[in-house]
Amino acid sequence: MKKTAIYPGSFDPVTNGHLDILKRALRIFDSVIVAVTDHRSKGPLFSVQERTALFRQAAQGLKGVSVENFNGLLVNYARKKGACAIVRGLRAVSDFEYEFQMALMNRHLSQRKKEPLETVYMMPDEKYTYLSSSLVKEVSRLGGDISHFVPRSVSAALLTKNRIPVKKT
Ligand code: ADP
Repeated sequence: MKKTAIYPGSFDPVTNGHLDILKRALRIFDSVIVAVTDHRSKGPLFSVQERTALFRQAAQGLKGVSVENFNGLLVNYARKKGACAIVRGLRAVSDFEYEFQMALMNRHLSQRKKEPLETVYMMPDEKYTYLSSSLVKEVSRLGGDISHFVPRSVSAALLTKNRIPVKKT
């Protein structure tokens, strides 16, 4: 049976760290649905449509990936999509507590159905351990070069958001 996983997140915006996790997940699952969350409480820089489009562009060429946006309870969405697992990235110990809480809550919420939804954690390459979307946004806002950490389309989108003229190469 084909195994599908959901990779949820705000992806505001997608970074090379997110893509690293996605590629690792694709080695385990037949397909991965990137679910871009529409949680406005986080005050995202990019709209959910922009975040989805940026991830879609970044994942072009990767087989077995689809990128969608979603709003609501993750366990319901995962069931609807026929997914057997949730994929999340773990960087440092600081991620652990929140992730542990979420994984157990999602398992609990899904338990009424026959099979609980498991969460699979993956560690990125060391070079992405300290990378986060918020850091990228902050550095870019202050005029720093973030092109090593994000796909090209994201660099351009950040420059546009920050109204910095894009250099022609
Ligand atoms: P959320 O708001 O759901 O935490 P994020 O976009 O910040 O959304 O992150 C989505 C997922 O990707 C989370 O599991 C997070 O731990 C993981 N992640 C974020 N940045 C990195 C990175 N640099 N390397 C590996 N995983 C990451």
